[in-house]
Amino acid sequence: MKSTQKSALAAIPAVDELLKQGEAAGLLASHPRSSVIDAIRETLAEVRSRLRQGESVDLRSEALIPEIRRRVLQAEAYSLQPLINATGIVLHTNLGRATLSDRAIRNMAAVGSGYTNLEYDLEAGMRGKRHVHLKRLLVRLTGAEDALVVNNNAAAVFLCLNTIARCREVIVSRGELVEIGGSFRVPDVMAASGAQLREVGTTNKTHLRDYEGAIGDTTGMLLKVHQSNYRMIGFTEEVPIADLVALGRKKGIPVMFDLGSGCLVDFRPYGVLTEPTVQEMVTAGVDLITFSGDKLLGGPQGGLIVGRKDLISRLQKNPMARAFRIDKLTIAAFEATLAAYAEPEQAGKEIPVLAMLFQPAEKIHRRALRIASALRRSLPGIRPRVLRDASQAGGGSLPETSWPTSVVAIGPEALSVNEFEERLRKGVPPVIARIRNDRLLLDARTIADREIPVLIERVAAALQTSPSS
Ligand SMILES: *Cc1c(COP(=O)(O)O)cnc(C)c1O
Repeated sequence: MKSTQKSALAAIPAVDELLKQGEAAGLLASHPRSSVIDAIRETLAEVRSRLRQGESVDLRSEALIPEIRRRVLQAEAYSLQPLINATGIVLHTNLGRATLSDRAIRNMAAVGSGYTNLEYDLEAGMRGKRHVHLKRLLVRLTGAEDALVVNNNAAAVFLCLNTIARCREVIVSRGELVEIGGSFRVPDVMAASGAQLREVGTTNKTHLRDYEGAIGDTTGMLLKVHQSNYRMIGFTEEVPIADLVALGRKKGIPVMFDLGSGCLVDFRPYGVLTEPTVQEMVTAGVDLITFSGDKLLGGPQGGLIVGRKDLISRLQKNPMARAFRIDKLTIAAFEATLAAYAEPEQAGKEIPVLAMLFQPAEKIHRRALRIASALRRSLPGIRPRVLRDASQAGGGSLPETSWPTSVVAIGPEALSVNEFEERLRKGVPPVIARIRNDRLLLDARTIADREIPVLIERVAAALQTSPSS
């Protein structure tokens, strides 16, 4: 070992010495002593190993304390934690899909902090049913006869197939045997439910006569599946839902549509022409319609089923309905989310998913400009650029639509863009961003105004801390 290295090792401050420094003492005021001591020990161990590898390390307490603070915060943070989504993808499945409206959050807090009439009928003064709470609004909003909400849309599809078509054949077009987000595959869910898949048509074309020809004694259901994250273009043909409904009626076979995202507002005025509303499918006469709660609807995780009363009653009697039932917090979030849909205009403003998707490009651009100028103020050396770009809806929703957005592009000079991205991702709160051509992009679509000050702080810290600390 070189003597300079030896003297550097000897110069490492002791734990007690660091604890007496003003800033570390400040940490002690708001964090348990044991966490601060652990963080100091870990930091010093890291310093020691870097010195042994011959690196030079700044041993002044001003340099060590920020790292100690970072470790204290990280150790205390919950595993599931809020973060800043700077990807521009509104429905990012890995980042928790829909963010909830203020009204939904307030209702969850109100319902969660005390007792409720979850399964108590206040009129009759006796035991009630938990599904009545959401049925009321869903029936009113969609025009369906009845409704049931379970844990997620995968559970909804499973429950319908298992109840209505177990040991029977379910006819599906080959063009709709899709896989959604890794683990939901129509043929696999079908197999697990005990229904038998009967594929008809070809990948690009399926005709009504294909369904008609496949119907037999063992047919239990005609199923249509929204292609979600996948689009076929060119020489394609699918059977209009009205024709499928007419065929089901004629043969006495239920018709189900797994809508996937399922929206309750008409997206056509916003240029999205491909997304049928749930109401339209009810009007078309589809017997069972399933969709997710946390995609375009903008609510909590859930699987909504609306449709014919006799079929929904059968779903409720399936023992699996109990296994898939939702809790009171989810009901509270849904009821407040759905209530906003009574006024579609209100829903567009109040529900974050809709507000983020439909915000005017100029509003996003102004936010990007604000972020860039705040960055310039706090870090005079950096030269962020504001660029026009496009973001995706995400969550398997609206894949053919790209939404005009604006991004703040930062090319860090003192460190690599990958290291910059990693520091942002590992900070508290984490910031998740995209990289393109050696620049880090912060997409202003999904950054809330209230998050801007923290975002600036995180970016400044990531650019300033000495490398690999
Ligand atoms: C997303 C999706 C599902 C799965 O929904 P989850 O709520 O994630 O369980 C099922 N079917 C379709 C068509 C989808 O788009």
